[in-house]
Amino acid sequence: MSDAKTSPVRPGVVKTVTSLANPTVKDIRSLQQRKFRQQTGRFVAEGLKLVTDAVEAGWPIEIFVHAEKIGTQDAVAQTAAKVKARGGLILQVSEAVLSKMTHRDNPQMVIGVFRQRLKKLADIDASGATVWVALENIKDPGNLGTVIRTVDSVGASGVILIGDTVDPFSIETVRATMGSIFAVPVVKASVEEFLAWKDTFPGPVIGTHLAGAVDYRTIDYPEPMILLMGNEQSGLPQRIADSCDRLVKIPMAGRADSLNLAVSTGIMLYEARRSRLVL
Ligand code: SAM
Repeated sequence: MSDAKTSPVRPGVVKTVTSLANPTVKDIRSLQQRKFRQQTGRFVAEGLKLVTDAVEAGWPIEIFVHAEKIGTQDAVAQTAAKVKARGGLILQVSEAVLSKMTHRDNPQMVIGVFRQRLKKLADIDASGATVWVALENIKDPGNLGTVIRTVDSVGASGVILIGDTVDPFSIETVRATMGSIFAVPVVKASVEEFLAWKDTFPGPVIGTHLAGAVDYRTIDYPEPMILLMGNEQSGLPQRIADSCDRLVKIPMAGRADSLNLAVSTGIMLYEARRSRLVL
């Protein structure tokens, strides 16, 4: 067994790493922090199926890490061969190293380091669009991951992140997407960019708001459209709410004063789908 601690890692090669001080281990570990994800344009995804599916789908993978003990499994060996053929690095590591990389006591046996893919509003092809879900200033990685997964589930077009939102490539968000991060286009825009762009979009913006007077079950959901959801604490700011073509509310019967953001997004998307006018 060799240790890559003292030898620099090169693309297209296989290394066995057991040292927690290995520089590549440290680099991967640093991707837990947003500033390093932003600096490097990389992110980490965990799990054999998820990483394998992403590689199959052609996502740019830079490093494929697996526990030494599963290196002989067919699926692991096949994915490793593909990554190597594309010039990626393969790391075989101990479970202690995997734990350190992912900050988990019971880590997944496989992780992948991928290049991020973020789109701009100008990349959106409205002609083929169904529903774009726009999320304003949302902060919770679990909510974002769940929304991305739900958008995938209904076959909606993608997610637009407006303003200062949580990072779609944080490990918590990626975990919550359950692999849908590799299937759903994610766009980033400022509030001003979004407000200017939405006027060029050929469909309505349907906003959700607790102050909305209209029951979400009573309106049409034309294709294409934008479904606009607000921040977990404060909801949609007035200026953005005022810019919507429709504002709807999901009625609530009990004592709760609002629904969870991801739950309400799911209700809206499935209502749009049920209406059979979109999706
Ligand atoms: N205190 C916030 C407010 O007054 O808007 C609550 C925000 S809520 C937790 C987060 C987002 O979920 C809202 O901005 C809205 O998009 C959506 N939402 C939650 N409950 C809703 C409901 N009953 N009707 C419509 N949208 C809802």
